Amino acid sequence: MSDPRRRLPAVDAVLAEPDVTALLAAHPRSLVVRAVRDTIDHARVNGGTTPPEGWGAAVGARVQQLAAPSLLPVINATGVVLHTNLGRAPLARAAREAMTRIAAGYSNLEYDLARGARGSRHALCRDLLVELTGAEDAIVLNNAAGALLVALSALARDGEAIVSRGELVEIGGAFRIPDIMARSGATLVEVGTTNRTHLTDYESAVTERTRLLLKVHRSNFQVTGFTAEVSAQEIAGVARARGAASLYDLGSGLLTDLSPWGLSGEPTVAEALASGVDAVAFSGDKLLGGPQAGILLGTREAIAACRKDPLARAVRSDKFTFAALEATLALYREPETNRREIPVIRMLTEDVTEIRRRGEALQKGVGKEAELIEGESEVGGGSFPGAKLKTWLVALHPQHLAPNALAERLRGGAPPVIARIADDHVVLDPRTIFPDEMESVARAVRTALDA
Ligand SMILES: *Cc1c(COP(=O)(O)O)cnc(C)c1O
Repeated sequence: MSDPRRRLPAVDAVLAEPDVTALLAAHPRSLVVRAVRDTIDHARVNGGTTPPEGWGAAVGARVQQLAAPSLLPVINATGVVLHTNLGRAPLARAAREAMTRIAAGYSNLEYDLARGARGSRHALCRDLLVELTGAEDAIVLNNAAGALLVALSALARDGEAIVSRGELVEIGGAFRIPDIMARSGATLVEVGTTNRTHLTDYESAVTERTRLLLKVHRSNFQVTGFTAEVSAQEIAGVARARGAASLYDLGSGLLTDLSPWGLSGEPTVAEALASGVDAVAFSGDKLLGGPQAGILLGTREAIAACRKDPLARAVRSDKFTFAALEATLALYREPETNRREIPVIRMLTEDVTEIRRRGEALQKGVGKEAELIEGESEVGGGSFPGAKLKTWLVALHPQHLAPNALAERLRGGAPPVIARIADDHVVLDPRTIFPDEMESVARAVRTALDA
């Protein structure tokens, strides 16, 4: 009888409130109606009382939530440079401009301007990739997982593909080498053991059904201790001698040597090609620092087979990818340019004293609850596993706020700031915070601490 839920207003009554009616000036009616329904439902669940802030404000807040895009820019304060959950590589200015240029109108994506006839998108970026790497040919696909699927299908379908047991890896997101192999139509032949595989293991596994020898770079973990693996060069040699193809899944597309900055152990694309394998596969948005893409480089014959494979159509790249990738690759013509312009390379090679200087500015901007401490950043994205980059962290010591609660407040801000918790403190790593984001991070932290 006196159930307050019965006394909740009807949708029309809430819509007639002046504050709610005013929302219709800026938002579609369907959106406002949905926000009203959601707000009434919410009130019903909360015991049937009027929202404490009033109907107008509650509906207004819900409208804001519904109207906001779900994909948002965030500030990466984690210090993980290639953070897969945060969109991997931020793009260089030239790449962003190229995407914008292509987005607004038509383009020659599949049109040969010289002949005035249909062209192929597979010609895009090809010459630049050949110029930068010395490969005979190249093709760009949607991502490295797709590129691998295409290469396995083109080079090993209906035959056997030999892989070391130490390289049957999971890349993440349910992407495992044995599964992708099965989908490609190739039969997996495992050789060696988890820790040790020898050249003779490959040699004795080759039969007349063998079409491919696959080498997978262990990009996201390390094997130490009593170990042995066979180099890509030796694998390519066995394949050539036995009339099979060879493929090297490199993971990251390192186009420039980063060992002067303490980052070594990850093969460069040039080194992978120099091993003599028929094809190399890698990502566009890992160490290369470009858009999501999967790049296959190799011999004319191997790449032609990949281009012809029906799966290449299913995982083709879109025009924005080609635009951004071409602009990013062009920056590699000059070593100094790529370090300055490609955010991933800039962050990985930034001088630690410069990071310290930016950390000090952030610490001052936050105030007495912040402290500058030494720490380590990570490369991330399945590249240089185990590599530690010296950095300076701003550690936060709030009076009455648990680290999880503070991290949650930072995530809830606009823009969201994604921090890391280390030794029971929220820490911010200036390495992955863009210089022009520093002030808004300081403001976001102060707001979170004062709330
Ligand atoms: C990351 C990675 C892939 C997958 O690359 P995506 O671009 O994410 O599809 C494949 N193989 C290896 C070895 C990797 O490290």
